[in-house]
Amino acid sequence: MNTKIWLSSPHMSGKEQKYIKEAFDTNWVAPLGPNVNGFEEDLQNYLGNNSCVAALASGTSALHLGLILLGVSKGDEVICQSKTFSASANPILYQGAVPIFVDSERDTWNLCPEQLEIAIKHRLSLGKKPKAIIAVHLYGMPYKVDDIISISKKYDIPILEDSAESLGSTYKGVKCGTFGDISILSFNGNKIITTSGGGALVAKTKEIKDEAVFLSTQARDNAPHYEHSKIGYNYRMSNIVAGIGRGQMTILNSHVSKRRHNFDFYKNSFCDINPIQFLNEPKGMFSNRWLTTILLPSYKIREALREFLLTDNIESRPLWKPMHLQPVFKDAPKYLNGISENLFERGLCLPSGSNLTKSDLARVVNKVKEYFQNVR
Ligand SMILES: *Cc1c(COP(=O)(O)O)cnc(C)c1O
Repeated sequence: MNTKIWLSSPHMSGKEQKYIKEAFDTNWVAPLGPNVNGFEEDLQNYLGNNSCVAALASGTSALHLGLILLGVSKGDEVICQSKTFSASANPILYQGAVPIFVDSERDTWNLCPEQLEIAIKHRLSLGKKPKAIIAVHLYGMPYKVDDIISISKKYDIPILEDSAESLGSTYKGVKCGTFGDISILSFNGNKIITTSGGGALVAKTKEIKDEAVFLSTQARDNAPHYEHSKIGYNYRMSNIVAGIGRGQMTILNSHVSKRRHNFDFYKNSFCDINPIQFLNEPKGMFSNRWLTTILLPSYKIREALREFLLTDNIESRPLWKPMHLQPVFKDAPKYLNGISENLFERGLCLPSGSNLTKSDLARVVNKVKEYFQNVR
């Protein structure tokens, strides 16, 4: 059997262990310390825009704190892009709030501005004003930032920007992860940079960042004993994990170029295979191409190709199943146009790691070509 080609696997720079060793040498083996501060500074410098970053245990915990900071509580409604990974939506339920799912548009596969406005108007007509909008730059492709922000302003509903898959992407030259009233990042093992597991909340002010850090460290009031006037969480990032993050920040830009190169290589290699379609970057958008995604003519062909790749130990994965189709969210209100379901049926993510070798990429391309030669 050929060695396994993964969808997206961790890719170290070699600098990570220096920071981890420093943490051990100075005994900062705790959920605070120089690496946590250093990683937050690196992220702030990278994102620009006066971002204030709180390093946390995961992207999911960042989303949860984001909802809390936006005032979401029991019984509130929160609008969420349906085409996303479940972690975008689960924290709505952690708060006892109600998710309202909204479909995608064709140009970026992200939150559809028209459906979003239809949903808001309908919720308002029912006497319920949504408390927040969770918008996601899926697979690294920015959502229609200007359109979504103008709807958010028009109806005075804040945006929680899920930038878990889009560190390194930009919209009109501005970094993704800076567009929400609150934004989040993820450093899980499969993301564009990884700390093994980890995430961050990106705030617009130091006060909001400090409140996130306060909540993430058990909400300890200022007293010599343990005093609590709010419910706290254990969501802070460890100083060991943050050391990996500092090493990873040194090669983030090269990971973006490599992933974009993967996309270009697939696109050029498949240019004469008509059944394969790619998602192009709309004007003003720059995707980190976290995952290269393709559309096939039908569910049947998508599944056949996926299984054919698997026979050569090549991992691929259907596009994320929309949240409104998930059993766990079956009762949630939804505003649909058919696009996310169609993408789910026909879409496939190809191996996209920044550590794929030339021969790995060639193996994937040859296997895909072989599939289409045989079906013709
Ligand atoms: C990975 C991911 C998350 C969750 O991040 P974790 O760090 O794994 O908790 C949230 N949203 C999206 C879109 C993701 O891809």
